[in-house]
Amino acid sequence: PTAHVESQDGCAEVIPTASPIRLAANISTLVEARQVSRCGAREVGLCRTELLFPSRQQAPSLERQIQIYSHIARECAPAPVTFRLLDAGGDKPLPWLNKGSEPNPALGWHGIRVLLDQPELLDTQLKALLEVSRQYCIRIMVPMVTELEEVLAVKARLHALAAELEVAAPELGTMVETPSAAMLADVLAEELDFFSIGSNDLAQYTLAVDRDNPRVADRLNAVSPALVRLMALVVDAARPKGLAVTLCGELAANPDYLPLWLSLGIDGLSMQAGALAHIRQRLMDPLLVPERQALLAARSVSELSTLLQKA
Ligand code: PEP
Ligand code: MG
Repeated sequence: PTAHVESQDGCAEVIPTASPIRLAANISTLVEARQVSRCGAREVGLCRTELLFPSRQQAPSLERQIQIYSHIARECAPAPVTFRLLDAGGDKPLPWLNKGSEPNPALGWHGIRVLLDQPELLDTQLKALLEVSRQYCIRIMVPMVTELEEVLAVKARLHALAAELEVAAPELGTMVETPSAAMLADVLAEELDFFSIGSNDLAQYTLAVDRDNPRVADRLNAVSPALVRLMALVVDAARPKGLAVTLCGELAANPDYLPLWLSLGIDGLSMQAGALAHIRQRLMDPLLVPERQALLAARSVSELSTLLQKA
């Protein structure tokens, strides 16, 4: 809950009466899982499962996956953990996948595409997560979605396996990290329980900026009007269906953008544990927040930053 006080220069002052945005942690290792309760995160917004089995020469077995996901969930409890399905991507190669080289890995065989092409891999991971869900509160998130069919296919397998194992299916959500998923957010919202905006990839694919190229890194770490409009689409599609929208890319940890997330109506921010204290502190202070309409009307990066500087 927040109080908005109109001011004269198009900004609305927000006086937090409690933290208006849920703060969550991103984790990729057991060590990071151990820090979750200490840093006060109420949930884990993103567990990058592809990074939990780094040096293995073969796909992790069902038993090994159950073991490690349970361990993670136990370390984080009572905070619920959002496990992202294996997201082998251009920047996250899994040695045992034998992907071979691709001319353009960022546009290639990655994320959910791999899992749907290798149903055994998808089923094993879903079964492991379903087993863990018997004991711990977890959610499942699909990476690199571009089409409705991908979501429907994962949802069908999740529900079939849950029925087989006689366990209730956990909440299912998707990363929104391609412009295609953002444009289809209203359609995807019909099928899912939550959205998580992955700003690293959403910026990469929207702005045609290679996230692994330091020469263009500043473009990836600044918010552009196109990105703001896509994010607004996602929030507006989620709202009527009651889906929460979390932001879990690197931008979430940048305090300068807090007024932007508040104005857009983002429900949660998930970031590396080390950044949480600072963000929490900034959320305790009164913040000036630009009007949503003004943000959506911004035509350039500089117009946006002017609005945010005023805020
Ligand atoms: C993202 O794309 O913003 C994201 C959070 O996922 P990753 O960085 O693991 O691709
Ligand atoms: Mg991503």
